Amino acid sequence: MRDGTIVVAGASLAALRGAEALRAGGFAGRLVLVGDEPHLPYDRPPLSKHVLTGEIAPGATTLPGVGALRAEWRLGAPAAGLDRAGRALLLAGGERLPFDRLLIATGARARPWPEAGAAALAGVHTLRGRDDAAALAAGLAARPGRVLILGAGFIGCEVASSIRALGLPVTVVDPAPSPLTAALGQVIGGFVAGRMEAAGIDLRMGAEVAHLEGGDGRVRRARLAGGGTIAADLVVVALGAVRNTEWLAGSGLDADEGGLSCDGACRALDAAGRPDDAVFAAGDVARFPHPVYDNRPVALEHWGNAVAQAAHAARAMLEGPEAAGPYAEMPAFWSSQFGLNIKSLGLTEGADAVAIVQGDPRSARFLAVYGREGRTIAAVAVNAGRWLPAYAGAIREGAPFPPITGGADQPHPDPVPPGLPAQAA
Ligand SMILES: Cc1cc2nc3c(=O)[nH]c(=O)nc-3n(C[C@H](O)[C@H](O)[C@H](O)COP(=O)(O)OP(=O)(O)OC[C@H]3O[C@@H](n4cnc5c(N)ncnc54)[C@H](O)[C@@H]3O)c2cc1C
Repeated sequence: MRDGTIVVAGASLAALRGAEALRAGGFAGRLVLVGDEPHLPYDRPPLSKHVLTGEIAPGATTLPGVGALRAEWRLGAPAAGLDRAGRALLLAGGERLPFDRLLIATGARARPWPEAGAAALAGVHTLRGRDDAAALAAGLAARPGRVLILGAGFIGCEVASSIRALGLPVTVVDPAPSPLTAALGQVIGGFVAGRMEAAGIDLRMGAEVAHLEGGDGRVRRARLAGGGTIAADLVVVALGAVRNTEWLAGSGLDADEGGLSCDGACRALDAAGRPDDAVFAAGDVARFPHPVYDNRPVALEHWGNAVAQAAHAARAMLEGPEAAGPYAEMPAFWSSQFGLNIKSLGLTEGADAVAIVQGDPRSARFLAVYGREGRTIAAVAVNAGRWLPAYAGAIREGAPFPPITGGADQPHPDPVPPGLPAQAA
């Protein structure tokens, strides 16, 4: 397909990179990007890092390449529905955008605090977009007496690191036994906990906030489920993400808060599992079968996945699903926090063992490999990103665990249980 109309729902990273790939692939027709935010595509990773520390202004995060794209933009214009039979995207303002192909890249949003009244108190923040980051930075500029962060996942820990770097007192609360437990397990999470405490974070693992309480319209304290309170005048709710799929209700597609199901060629699936040849998905919103993990459906929140999957979807749109083949990009993620540069390859989910195969946590430079049933499934490098690519092949092939690379500084690997949460049956 070289002509006609392609509409993209969502106007962020996957949308932009998908649109660029369409043009690079020779698409010469009409290209329309529809975004509910008023902004041109911008980058989210700096929002929890350099934007909060004041090194980058929220408005300076616009993605490179935006200006060069030959496209029409509908910004501040949420997609509200999808007429699949009529091949049209329906906008909240009433506009009907007919398409030959549609790329759905509506991503995810921050999971809000469940008590709506408390979530609306002044001083309670979530962080997903540029405007959230600007509001949070303004709240921090008022030098709150204590910042409370709910959730010790990647966003919660990065935000804690950035706010602590401003010299503010920070408490982090999470019911899990260690930070980053869901992604990295307690072994690596325990190492990160030590770094956080050394940086002066008041870390309350194994604790749960039951209620946020306010006074005069502003948050004042958190009440813990086990009793006791934590006084705080700024709260960051970092409880994970919800996929933006509600607007697809009634479209017949298989979509819920965990994502929009699609096949290996990024075609959206209907409730019966049949692909729609005109509707594609990419980025955080997409739930797809990963060939490296027995075609288990996965939904990633990784920058690199948004870029690679959008390019794959563009190829499938232009050349057909067979030409594109199954999407098999290795999941990869990075995070910076507390002086640590954490990079991962593969998925740790379901790992039954972890081994430090290079470096040493005591020097804050090491590489850990995760195994499942004797096979290598993931690797995580801490301040050792250069060592990581060497493990991609072992992960892709499911090589015996622990892999032996023969590195000179390789300690004798001694696998231990990784301390990941039990998997749902
Ligand atoms: C604070 C933060 C830090 C991060 N740091 C890292 C990191 O260090 N490393 C890493 O690998 N990843 C990181 N990520 C994840 C990475 O940014 C995401 O994976 C990436 O943004 C996904 O891109 P996307 O285009 O799929 O979705 P999104 O970026 O979520 O974009 C989707 C867009 O669609 C819009 N939209 C939603 N519904 C509609 C609708 N109905 N109509 C129109 N538009 C709609 C949304 O408002 C949004 O603008 C971070 C994310 C955040 C929030």
